[in-house]
Amino acid sequence: PDVLAFQNVCKTYPGQPRPALDDLTLRVPRGSRMGIIGRSGAGKSTLVRLLSGLDTPDAGELRVRGEVLGPATRAAHQARTGLVFQQFNLLAQRTVLRNVTLPLELRGVPRARRDALAREQLGLVGLGDYAGRYPAQLSGGQKQRVGIARALVTAPDLLLADEATSALDPETSAGILQLLLELQRERDLTLVIVTHQLEVVRAVTTHVAVLEGGQLVESGETGAVLRDP
Ligand code: ADP
Ligand code: ADP
Repeated sequence: PDVLAFQNVCKTYPGQPRPALDDLTLRVPRGSRMGIIGRSGAGKSTLVRLLSGLDTPDAGELRVRGEVLGPATRAAHQARTGLVFQQFNLLAQRTVLRNVTLPLELRGVPRARRDALAREQLGLVGLGDYAGRYPAQLSGGQKQRVGIARALVTAPDLLLADEATSALDPETSAGILQLLLELQRERDLTLVIVTHQLEVVRAVTTHVAVLEGGQLVESGETGAVLRDP
């Protein structure tokens, strides 16, 4: 079954002459690594906002794990979805450990359990010795590893990475992509990677969807879509 299915999804912002997403139909199979690629203005951020339940389509529907995403299903969807951001979105006043425990605090998980889960997660992203540091004391790649630990500490089955390597140099990006790939395989996650970088798609995805001007212009298995003519 598909984890995500966009069916004829349209979204136009008020006052804009053309839709940000124009009749988008797209499926994301369970366990796949789907790349969503497009230039600036293609509709990627809009797609992420819909996927994360922050905005709703004007027409069409978005199904998540078989259910239409709407007011009744949004909270459950968000609880099972991890988000990784371009600018990491770490809280500067909190230690690395407290950044990773945050989603568990919001769910009311008891402190001892939170700390144990967060420490385990930090170990898995290679930051076992950094629990007591503050974000300002970390490199960009380390900050993103904290972001990934925070996204996974609640054991989601879907991980959405929004330009997760765009703020990093190529070498650091490659390490982060490798980590995402390993975690996706180990945990049987569905991974959606939104990016403007073709090399990101090439490096880690199984499937790719190409957006242009709000429309899906190509999609399929990565090897087939990126094959030279
Ligand atoms: P990116 O290509 O990284 O998504 P954008 O500059 O397209 O960056 O968008 C950054 C933010 O600004 C997003 O939250 C997007 O929704 C918003 N945004 C983009 N275009 C407009 C616009 N024409 N009017 C208002 N907000 C916009
Ligand atoms: P991308 O993330 O691929 O750069 P966006 O989804 O941000 O694309 O933008 C798609 C289109 O929608 C662009 O034409 C952009 O200007 C417009 N847009 C995005 N966000 C807003 C917004 N909040 N208000 C008005 N227009 C927007």
